[in-house]
Amino acid sequence: MIDEKGILFILSGPSGVGKGTVRKALFEQDTNLKYSISMTTRAMREGEQEGVDYFYRTREQFEQMISEKKMLEYAEYVGNYYGTPKQYVEEMIELGHDVFLEIEVQGALQVKENFPQGVFIFLIPPSLEELKNRIVDRGTETEDLIMNRLKEARNEIEMMDKYDYVVVNDNIDEAVRKVQAIVQSEHCKRERV
Ligand code: 5GP
Repeated sequence: MIDEKGILFILSGPSGVGKGTVRKALFEQDTNLKYSISMTTRAMREGEQEGVDYFYRTREQFEQMISEKKMLEYAEYVGNYYGTPKQYVEEMIELGHDVFLEIEVQGALQVKENFPQGVFIFLIPPSLEELKNRIVDRGTETEDLIMNRLKEARNEIEMMDKYDYVVVNDNIDEAVRKVQAIVQSEHCKRERV
């Protein structure tokens, strides 16, 4: 049988760990899943699109959303705001869809307070050295930004114990398989006739 309401999954992990890649692979296989597009004040990267990767807004527009209590969570990360618009998430969950948030740790901890029934998954790199290589290879950040992101990564990894599940992203297929297993097992937990 189908659960009446959808489940909120929160995927966190340091920048560069491969959250986006895992999420995209997951979405190719699970059609009941909805991705909550975040809002940010950071500049659009090459190849990104408004309303696909993010909703790109000014600080004023973002702060307006905060003051109108329209954000499920938000955080400042390396000098920019990032946050989850509340309405979409609530509507999709009500309609019975699972919703995936791909967010950093401070935001995830806010969701945990407001939405404790969410399922919290932390994706970690096999090592910090490997994480640095991945951010450098991505080629989207300057040296300064890479150092900031690595500093942030160390802080984030310390919060890992607050999550329900930890998945090591050593091999992408394996990591996707594990996240799929988590999604299935959470549905089994809630399954009732
Ligand atoms: P990036 O600039 O690399 O796209 O994202 C930087 C960090 O912000 C990543 O860890 C990403 O997961 C996180 N992030 C993206 N969207 C949100 C959001 O809506 N809320 C929060 N708290 N973090 C987000």
